[in-house]
Amino acid sequence: MARTKKLINHPDDVISDLVAGLIAAHSGELQVSGDTGRAIVATNGPRAGKVGVVIGGGSGHEPAFVGYVGRGLADAVAIGNVFASPAPNQIADAARAANGGAGVIFLYGNYTGDVMNFTMAAEMLEAEGVPIRQVQVTDDVLSAPIDKRSERRGIAGDVFVFKVAGAAADQGHSLDRVEALTRKANAAIFSAAVALGPCSLPQTGKPNFQLGDDEMEIGMGLHGEPGVRREKLANADIVVDDLMASILADADLTAGDRVAVMVNGLGATSHLELYILFKRVSEILSDQGVELVRAWVGEYATSLEMAGASITVMALDDELAELLFHPCHSPAFHEGAPVAVTGSAAGPVVAARTQPRPTTDAPSETVLKSGGPISATIFRDMMRHAGLAIIEKADWLSDLDGQIGDGDHGVSMAQGWRAVLHALDDAPTDETISQTCGRMGSAFLDAVGASSGPLYATAFQYAGHAVADRLDLDAPALAALIAAAADGITTRGGAVIGDKTMADAWIPAADVARQNADTDVVRLMQAVAKAAEAGMNATADLEARKGRAAKLGKRSLGHVDPGAASAFLLLSGMRTYLARDHLGLK
Ligand code: ADP
Ligand code: MG
Repeated sequence: MARTKKLINHPDDVISDLVAGLIAAHSGELQVSGDTGRAIVATNGPRAGKVGVVIGGGSGHEPAFVGYVGRGLADAVAIGNVFASPAPNQIADAARAANGGAGVIFLYGNYTGDVMNFTMAAEMLEAEGVPIRQVQVTDDVLSAPIDKRSERRGIAGDVFVFKVAGAAADQGHSLDRVEALTRKANAAIFSAAVALGPCSLPQTGKPNFQLGDDEMEIGMGLHGEPGVRREKLANADIVVDDLMASILADADLTAGDRVAVMVNGLGATSHLELYILFKRVSEILSDQGVELVRAWVGEYATSLEMAGASITVMALDDELAELLFHPCHSPAFHEGAPVAVTGSAAGPVVAARTQPRPTTDAPSETVLKSGGPISATIFRDMMRHAGLAIIEKADWLSDLDGQIGDGDHGVSMAQGWRAVLHALDDAPTDETISQTCGRMGSAFLDAVGASSGPLYATAFQYAGHAVADRLDLDAPALAALIAAAADGITTRGGAVIGDKTMADAWIPAADVARQNADTDVVRLMQAVAKAAEAGMNATADLEARKGRAAKLGKRSLGHVDPGAASAFLLLSGMRTYLARDHLGLK
């Protein structure tokens, strides 16, 4: 299949080039803050005594999210890799930049990866004494029924939520009040989307799903997650009637109600078409006697070059209308005349980083237990080998994720493991296995974000704790390490067996590890890899209940879970190394 053409330099440089371009284009308005290079702050945003508003998410949705950083809107943004949540350190950099001493609110679309990464960042900032609140945007009516509103995805409705929160903070409301108003805004927002064609990640260059020439997908997510149904392509009015029927069923509007509307292009749909869609939206509202107070038609939250559009309706009362029309100024959104910065302490209020990053246990070598065949050096080699096995199969993992997710899993895992390989190269030769686990977790998390970042960072952290008393690993210690990694994944992600996630490979692997703790390390890893393989294969028969794929219901059947597949690759890579490459045993 031909690669999609893109005007980029190198897939590995897209985010750094994006950030450099943003700063060059908006110098004076935006600046990078912190060490990660992924936090951008509005130069006229944060002020002493004001609640800080931090937004963020994956790249590829431009102008979201960075376009909404500015006076009266968000103070700072954390920029993730393409379609992947930013990592906790990146979010923490944004939060420190936004902190004006009155607390900080995090706003982002409701995706597992974002929830886990923002929550880890919130824990870091709270440890530094900064009160944090989080509101997840849940506007996509086709992603879950109204009685499960908290499970809905966030799509273009993000923009209205950011707008209201930014206005509330700009008006000087307390953290409690800003949070309450933001939640009220989110509850008033309803969106639905249609896709006509796929997009492709810069790293894979391949369309992340296939749609026939005469097909469209109703309910497609902002990352190409499959929608609720695939239909024959219809004309604009019919498509709008369909999407608006779902929106109005939930929005419960009556004659005389007031709304704001956004018709948003997903990246490859012309403004000509967007206005044609809007024409029908306005007719429907007028037929219902609903007053259209303001319309935004254009590209506000895109999905790379995906063809299609979303419609967002926000029900307004006086309070929300006032916040929506409060003046603001950012690269992608303006309202009213720009307001001069007032107050004595205008400009970013930079909080000192008071809390060092957690380190893994480092007891002195003299107390460490030894006698096992896997030394710290062998452990690092084994992990290198396993990482290379994952990198080699990255395309397969991304293909699996394209079937039931957003197509980035191989990209994310390869990125994470490349960072781990660098970190392993930097490891001092006398570093303990426990410390190496801590090093791997930090490297993986900083490089990845997404769902896998927090899940594997926590797995490595738990694994390190489990063998903190060991100089080397024997079979019981290796079993403890694997069981602890599985425990980290289930603790962080809350998945149980049967949810169709990486836990379906890790939990059986951990069980088998415990059962084989009295064998030798090679037999143990052989049994573990076998259990992980069976667990991975079993995911094909499961309906997803966690992560992105959970929105698909039965449509996830028949597909192997990408996270379970990478778990298998990791554990089988460890097995292969032990059995063949190092210990010479079969
Ligand atoms: P994202 O979903 O953010 O794009 P990835 O594509 O890197 O992240 O990873 C997707 C995988 O993450 C899924 O295939 C699934 O195995 C795993 N996953 C998602 N949510 C959870 C969870 N709550 N617990 C365990 N694993 C999860
Ligand atoms: Mg994914």
